[in-house]
Amino acid sequence: MAQSLLVEEHVNEEPSAYAIAVGQLVTAAHYLNLDSSLLEVLKHPRRELTVNFPVKMDDGSIRVFTGYRVQHNLARGPSKGGIRYHPDTNLDETRALAMWMTWKCAVANIPYGGAKGGVACDPRRLSIHELENLTRRYTSEISIMVGAESDIPAPDIGTNPQIMAWIMDTLSMHKGFTSSAVVTGKPVAIGGSEGRMEATGRGVTVVSHEACKELGMHLAGARVAIQGFGNVGSVTADLMHKAGAKVVAVSDARGGIYNPNGIDIEKVIHCAGRDGCLQAYRQADTVTNQELLEVPCDILVPAAVHGVITEHNAHKLSTKLVVEAANGPVTPEADAILQDRGIMLIPDILANAGGVVVSYFEWVQDIQSFFWEEDEVTGRLEKIMRRSFHSVKEIAKENGVDMRMGAYMIGVKRVADATNIRGIYP
Ligand code: NAD
Repeated sequence: MAQSLLVEEHVNEEPSAYAIAVGQLVTAAHYLNLDSSLLEVLKHPRRELTVNFPVKMDDGSIRVFTGYRVQHNLARGPSKGGIRYHPDTNLDETRALAMWMTWKCAVANIPYGGAKGGVACDPRRLSIHELENLTRRYTSEISIMVGAESDIPAPDIGTNPQIMAWIMDTLSMHKGFTSSAVVTGKPVAIGGSEGRMEATGRGVTVVSHEACKELGMHLAGARVAIQGFGNVGSVTADLMHKAGAKVVAVSDARGGIYNPNGIDIEKVIHCAGRDGCLQAYRQADTVTNQELLEVPCDILVPAAVHGVITEHNAHKLSTKLVVEAANGPVTPEADAILQDRGIMLIPDILANAGGVVVSYFEWVQDIQSFFWEEDEVTGRLEKIMRRSFHSVKEIAKENGVDMRMGAYMIGVKRVADATNIRGIYP
């Protein structure tokens, strides 16, 4: 009953991110022949918190911000999920992202449930001091939910290692002692892991490599277009470039650049860092974010926000492979169109799992106070990504479904089994 209320808020609009997430779960439950009461349990986020909190701004005024933390499922371990600072952040999106985290952790087979958090704000319009105030107060507000044994945040859109450091410091100040395992994606100097910054992009590159083999292509020489040039997009561009791929287009929120002969990614990273914008790189044409999705390429990597490939543009894509580095970039209608067109898709809950896998390594290292060399982190990450890719591919083949449904079948089954084995309390 409560489920239908949650989804009906959006009945007259485009389907909400959470409605899409529930729809994907229902389809997977159908293929798995899942018991209907168990499906009902999995549809609902376990806990949700909305916080409205004041922040002192630099001009002396006080602004009230709204933030969220949602824990979707805790059956397989503490919940894990990033914190997003973006003007569009809302409860519905946070619920969807938390549910996707549950399946993602289960697909990678790491012992976590799923969570997500965020604050509706534009971090680019806040000074460093305001950003710190906002982060510390938001952390304080959600501290009733988070902790090393209960719910462990990490970076997402608009947040970074410095913000994770403020979260760790705030929670440690509350306790009176340093508690590094309460958050991941921290700087290495305070208990972060080698290789965490690159982890999501590295995972995207590994699964792209495996998918290329399936399609009879080579990553080296493949033309790649990437939407989003933040942590995930820029690292993916860099690693694919180093693997010999020809990155033909990249973009950020302001728009993109395109050169069919390839872009010098190191120079773009330099330009973006120096001038704060990709357009400072002169050896390419400018394109809009919409045009970027349609440029001729072999691999298209949406690495920014959700809902960018829809029924309106899926038939215009000119690629062989879509790798969802962002969460939820392809709508279900677009999924069907891509499948009809024979375009392979690697779903987000598999493609971008590298971040949470190395976050798990960071948490393990913090708990043990024993830190690994970068090679060990990278080697273990690549092994998990390859293993996850092939188990998804096999189950998809066995059941005659696409890679997204294959990943859902693995993730949902593992969480359903854990819920069944534990039983319902009391
Ligand atoms: P980020 O903030 O570092 O970068 C986001 C990038 O997207 C920026 O270049 C920004 O300019 C661009 N962008 C923002 N709005 C846009 C829009 N409307 N159109 C086009 N570009 C836009 O964030 P990130 O950490 O790189 O995350 C990117 C995506 O990857 C998100 O969907 C996130 O949930 C997902 N993800 C991130 C991680 C991680 O470890 N950071 C892990 C898994 C999934």
